[in-house]
Amino acid sequence: MINGGKVDFDDEVILDSSFVNSKGKCVFDYIKQTSGSLFRNTIRNFIDNKEYDLKMIVEPLNDANELSTAITSDDQINQGIIKIKFNSKIVNTINPLEWAATILHEGIHAEIYRFVHKNDPTVKPTERARIIQLYLFYKNIGVNDGVIDTYVQHNHISQKYVIPIAKALRELGKNQYPLDDYMYFPWEDLLGDEIAKELKPSKKQLSIWLNKSIKIRDKNNIPCN
Ligand SMILES: [Zn+2]
Repeated sequence: MINGGKVDFDDEVILDSSFVNSKGKCVFDYIKQTSGSLFRNTIRNFIDNKEYDLKMIVEPLNDANELSTAITSDDQINQGIIKIKFNSKIVNTINPLEWAATILHEGIHAEIYRFVHKNDPTVKPTERARIIQLYLFYKNIGVNDGVIDTYVQHNHISQKYVIPIAKALRELGKNQYPLDDYMYFPWEDLLGDEIAKELKPSKKQLSIWLNKSIKIRDKNNIPCN
């Protein structure tokens, strides 16, 4: 730490004291230490790429987001800062598996903001093309500006990242349970927003996954209870 500036100078993920004082810190350290492929392709890019800082904060979210577990904000991206704000009203009540799912989910948003802003040539062109295609599609059907980001990104996450998040959680739990037991957690962060109905699991499937998730919430190998 230098002159009270960045908490963690070598590592361009900045953990605000509000985050350090939450259960998220333990979960984040564990994710970082185990460094699965989803972490390496998202949050890890902020450690490798000094142009952008990722900052994690726990605070009350404003009215529009008061029911969200967390949001990722690009309002300071021109200064190279992308912020993940965890909702202090909600994250104090969630378990380490939900924390991990939320950190990974928000890390995907952060990485999308980073690579769209940077127009990063190392990102697979097919991925970027898909984001832009979705963006233009929803823009054309009149989804208004503020909503485009989340709507497009959540459709993209639903299509591409549900299984990677579930697999990452399973890896964090040292493959203790079948993949199906972890499937509810990535959906939990997606169902609050509108996503295309063809991408949604059926109600029946969701309730099966929900039941499986309940048994592993308190009994899992993530060492942050
Ligand atoms: Zn999201």
